[in-house]
Amino acid sequence: MSAKKANLSGELKKYFGFSTFKGQQEKIIENLLEGKDIFVLMPTGGGKSLCYQLPALISEGTAIVVSPLIALMKNQVDAVNGLSSEDGVAHVLNSSLNKTQTKQVFDDIKSGKTKLLYVAPESLIKEDYLEFLKDVKISFVAIDEAHCISEWGHDFRPEYRNLKSIIDKIADVPVIALTATATPKVQDDIQKTLGMSNALVFKESFNRPNLYYEVQPKVNVDKEIVRFISQNKGKSGIVYCLSRRKVEEFAQLLQVNGINALPYHAGLDQKIRVANQDKFLMEEADVIVATIAFGMGIDKPDVRFVIHYDFPKSLESYYQETGRAGRDGGEGHCLAFYDPKDIEKLEKFLAQKPVSEREIGLQLLNEVVGYAETSMSRRQYILYYFGENFDPIKGDGAKMCDNSSNPPKLKDATGDLEKVLAL
Ligand code: ADP
Ligand code: MG
Repeated sequence: MSAKKANLSGELKKYFGFSTFKGQQEKIIENLLEGKDIFVLMPTGGGKSLCYQLPALISEGTAIVVSPLIALMKNQVDAVNGLSSEDGVAHVLNSSLNKTQTKQVFDDIKSGKTKLLYVAPESLIKEDYLEFLKDVKISFVAIDEAHCISEWGHDFRPEYRNLKSIIDKIADVPVIALTATATPKVQDDIQKTLGMSNALVFKESFNRPNLYYEVQPKVNVDKEIVRFISQNKGKSGIVYCLSRRKVEEFAQLLQVNGINALPYHAGLDQKIRVANQDKFLMEEADVIVATIAFGMGIDKPDVRFVIHYDFPKSLESYYQETGRAGRDGGEGHCLAFYDPKDIEKLEKFLAQKPVSEREIGLQLLNEVVGYAETSMSRRQYILYYFGENFDPIKGDGAKMCDNSSNPPKLKDATGDLEKVLAL
């Protein structure tokens, strides 16, 4: 495979039209082509897909891409097929395909046409798929959104846990795992579960210097949010609420206050949900009020604020949810409303869960409370949580949080870092 290595830039230009690699993409691809196992930790928008798409396109055989969501897979398949004049370079394999469609996919793989095969983990265990994949040439396996393997991640999916043994059945090929979740616990968990302790790890900074982090006590929250949004009229933003009921109530309240807002949650009729999402993406609505069901795979570059009406249940989720702001590099205001009573409610909710889940949940909550109550740089706090050191005076974006731009004078900050260190 290494013959292709020399001209990776040429291949990048040819397939994607980009003149330069982003971050460590080139190194990652080179090492994958050399047959190494790779682990990529890169924030959302960092360009992870290309790290497996490009090597797949220039390798012999088909790369299997494991991805958790049908919608994400479909987007990628369309994008990859759009890169080529030929059809069938990328396919999704799942149970929604009828017999003829499945045969087409199998034929395209056998003929060597298909370079990327997207599958959900629950499809991969299907006996007839497994049998078929065992007999064809697989170039490598990519596991996207690899944090789904870990209970410490923000999107645990039990189907991900058996991936290692399934992959071993299919082929002995390099594995590249990718995630935008970088807490040391999740990283560890992924590497152990996938048997990738010797993988080469590529980690990029998770700092988002253009995001401004702020926490306010949850007092007169409705009024505060209405005021904030009215002052930012016409700008695009997301308001996250914990419950579906709150989402609907608050979307209405915003509408009554002349704000062009729409609700989004998993309980809404599918048609309405999709329509609301599209209206937000097409700028027909300024604000989307949503549960955390909203956001995965959404790429709206100019989201200017992300408000948490209710506090998130982990710092990890908070980072992912606020990460949807300022994708274009412009301002992104991340404002969360904090009430210790809300945390108590979440704790009560956790009390009904099985012990292991409860313990993890409580620890994640502790960390998020630490973030809410800290008087140190919030950026430093978040990055520390991701295992990164951040200089709160000179670091990129150092002034971009409430505590740094307007340091709280009354509270004694000593002890805060110790609390973080104890995480
Ligand atoms: P991630 O999966 O890490 O969130 P994506 O793979 O979706 O990120 O990529 C984010 C964006 O970056 C996409 O629009 C993609 O086309 C773009 N991108 C990726 N690599 C490059 C590159 N080398 N040059 C320019 N744009 C890139
Ligand atoms: Mg991605």
